[in-house]
Amino acid sequence: MTIEKIANKYKKRFHPDEVWANIEMDELRRKECLCINCERKNDKPPYSSCPIAKKLYGICKEYDMAIAVTRCGATDTEINLLYLPLTTSKDQ
Ligand code: SF4
Repeated sequence: MTIEKIANKYKKRFHPDEVWANIEMDELRRKECLCINCERKNDKPPYSSCPIAKKLYGICKEYDMAIAVTRCGATDTEINLLYLPLTTSKDQ
């Protein structure tokens, strides 16, 4: 993880000239949804595999935000959790 001080492009009166930012996440969030620990997000934008990931990515793009998902309670219409833990090579 790379944390650097960068120019505050949203600076308003009394705000600092610079802010701390996670540079790697800033780059990544422009390319993809940040549900990075879930197997369900198995495709590229617009994420047809998960309607919630699709919404999150849309919000991030529209408002220039980074939303890191650390917990997910998203469910389908039958109240089944959508989250699927990542499978690793040792699981297979
Ligand atoms: S189930 Fe949750 S963590 Fe997984 S892709 Fe959807 S929103 Fe992200």
